[in-house]
Amino acid sequence: MKVGIIGAGSVGSATAFALVMRGVARKVVLIDANEKKAQAEAMDIAHAAPFAYANKIKAGTYQDLEGADVVIVTAGANQKPGETRIDLLGRNVKIFESIIPEIAKVAPNTILLITANPADIMTEVAIKLSGFPKERVIGSGTVLDTSRFRTLLGYHLGVSPQSIHAYVLGEHGDSEVLVWSNGDAGSVQIEELARVVNKPFTSEVKAQIDDCVRNSAYQIIEGKGATYYGIAGALCRICQAISNNEYAILTVSSHHEEVEGVNDVCVSLPTVIGKRGIHKVIFPRLSESEHRDLRFSAEKIKEYSDQAVAMVSQNK
Ligand code: NAD
Repeated sequence: MKVGIIGAGSVGSATAFALVMRGVARKVVLIDANEKKAQAEAMDIAHAAPFAYANKIKAGTYQDLEGADVVIVTAGANQKPGETRIDLLGRNVKIFESIIPEIAKVAPNTILLITANPADIMTEVAIKLSGFPKERVIGSGTVLDTSRFRTLLGYHLGVSPQSIHAYVLGEHGDSEVLVWSNGDAGSVQIEELARVVNKPFTSEVKAQIDDCVRNSAYQIIEGKGATYYGIAGALCRICQAISNNEYAILTVSSHHEEVEGVNDVCVSLPTVIGKRGIHKVIFPRLSESEHRDLRFSAEKIKEYSDQAVAMVSQNK
């Protein structure tokens, strides 16, 4: 598999490292506005590659994306003090306007994998700017949040996170929805398993897990300035599902004609991922309050993505 990565910052370089060390990509091209940074990261990672798999990583230009199976877009501005979310959105739309058409020109058949924040909204912007079919524009969505949820459930229940099937849906952000009502491990509902192992999900335990899933990014950023290993693992997993045509179910973000009464919105739902990108979306069974929360989350994304798409049209 050949993967292009736009943005060789913390997320881009950690993702390149994960792709190379896990042997998911045979060829990786790193592109950054700061060419020296891209070259340095590519060189550093290339020196680790012989300890893993026979693969090639290099810094390059858009021309080098020809034939890429997936192009991951991590280039994005971070919020500055005093800046609103919409101001940030404006800057990121401008960055995407300079990136997405270049990718579409050189690699018209690639799958776009969007992770720059706000990720759901930038996925909608990427669809608009690329003109690609919706199946080939994937947002990393709540794949990472789902992993955080499963990790904490696993610790609590004494079961490996890999054996837990529980999902985080909606926005990759503050309004995300942790689905407690139908998660299971070994065909046993997680709430029931918690009772069996004598560690019931009291409202305090649930609140603690919810807080940790929803706010761990803030905690990590406070401690070291950025989050990147978790998202690198998630992006690598999505690429692996595409490369192996796995039909794996992952909570990526994609464009839906309708979610909970909200039209034309990018939201994370359990999604079947394979060689063509998005093969199918599965709408899970939810409790009444989870339906309500998902609707709220979709409405929140919709409000901002309409503004972002309007910015693209204005700038054209
Ligand atoms: P960073 O500042 O370390 O890296 C961004 C890189 O993009 C920089 O190297 C910069 O030179 C480059 N860049 C900026 N404009 C460019 C352009 N027009 N063309 C090419 N390169 C350009 O930031 P980071 O920590 O790597 O985060 C990147 C993005 O990923 C941010 O938007 C961040 O919020 C987001 N993020 C998302 C998730 C998620 O789960 N979706 C998790 C972590 C970070």
